[in-house]
Amino acid sequence: MNADIVRHRTTAVRVGHVTVGGTAPIVVQSMTNTDTADPVRTAIQVAELARAGSELVRITVNTEEAAAAVPEIRERLEKMGLDVPLVGDFHFNGHKLLSRHPACAEALAKLRINPGNVGKGSKRDKQFESMIEVACRYDKPVRIGVNWGSLDPAVLARLLDANAARQDPQPLEDVTREALIASALESAAQAEALGLPHDHIVLSAKVSGVQSLIRVYTDLAARCDYPLHLGLTEAGMGTKGIVASTAALAVLLQQGIGDTIRISLTPEPGGDRTQEVIVAQEILQSLGLRSFLPSVVACPGCGRTSSDYFQHLAQDIQSFIRHQMPTWKQHYPGVEEMTVAVMGCVVNGPGESRHANIGISLPGTGEVPVAPVYEDGEKTVTLKGDHIAEEFQARVEAYIERRYGNGTTRRAS
Ligand code: SF4
Repeated sequence: MNADIVRHRTTAVRVGHVTVGGTAPIVVQSMTNTDTADPVRTAIQVAELARAGSELVRITVNTEEAAAAVPEIRERLEKMGLDVPLVGDFHFNGHKLLSRHPACAEALAKLRINPGNVGKGSKRDKQFESMIEVACRYDKPVRIGVNWGSLDPAVLARLLDANAARQDPQPLEDVTREALIASALESAAQAEALGLPHDHIVLSAKVSGVQSLIRVYTDLAARCDYPLHLGLTEAGMGTKGIVASTAALAVLLQQGIGDTIRISLTPEPGGDRTQEVIVAQEILQSLGLRSFLPSVVACPGCGRTSSDYFQHLAQDIQSFIRHQMPTWKQHYPGVEEMTVAVMGCVVNGPGESRHANIGISLPGTGEVPVAPVYEDGEKTVTLKGDHIAEEFQARVEAYIERRYGNGTTRRAS
């Protein structure tokens, strides 16, 4: 944990066996994009996300068929040996689905309710009450998840009227932001008044703009002690989505704001849904908030790099580490804090390798074709020939066994 970051104080909420808020580590979560009514495909994708490191997985519950499939999804996961808590995402008809499918409510570890999509006019409070009543009956926590794409129109209208009556009306953007926060806080207060315990509530107020998100969550954190679920909604595809999410979340996390995160990336067609989990982990690990797997430090390469050999080596080591981590986690506690350096030439190679637990410096253009390896700051071997990658990988494994096996849990330095 980065000692420079002082976490905002929040109430701890239990979601299945996972704690969100309080002093618990910041939780990584994700969401499926399969049809929940298809329990086989959904269970498979939940398993993929969980195995990638998602500690909570949300599934949409949007139809009778989807609600009916939730218990089977839970069972299939249990048979796969996965106890990852499932969060049900409800919009528009959640009150009906939850009351008609008690087994669905029981199989879920948390309910997500969007106050803007609960119902209109006089129906809104009754339908919200019905969902909270189910949460109370089955002792389930609730995320009051506000989104500015579906902001409660009644709250916005009320604040716009109040703003229009002011002598110094605020810009529309400020009023909208306040409406988001008010919708979350008022719905949470309403849920508590209906009997949902304070420590059963998580809040989120998502927008798609980086600066707006930072302002909304900074305000929200100052005004409540509910755990906060962070995420830039509709972040987008590829690099844009990753950068925008990272920019927004890094600022908030550095201020100690946020207890669980989800990265809302749009996958490429046929792309891997687990990317959102990997990005979430990388953000937390880069900030020093959590450690999930050994870090690979690699230089970008330049005109001194003699070939793309070192890029392949860096990529192979990264994949090898991610692939091995589920096993290493069981046998080598502390391995997730290790650093591996893969460098392209002698300019920064030996120096960076010395700072890592284990590092290799490949030969650059015009250099003698040898690759010195450093372990705990000392040069231990110089690799050469056609099998440098395989030999370095073997040395990484031997280092891990020596350093983290047999009850040794931390690097010496
Ligand atoms: S370590 Fe060498 S190859 Fe890598 S970026 Fe620096 S100078 Fe270029």
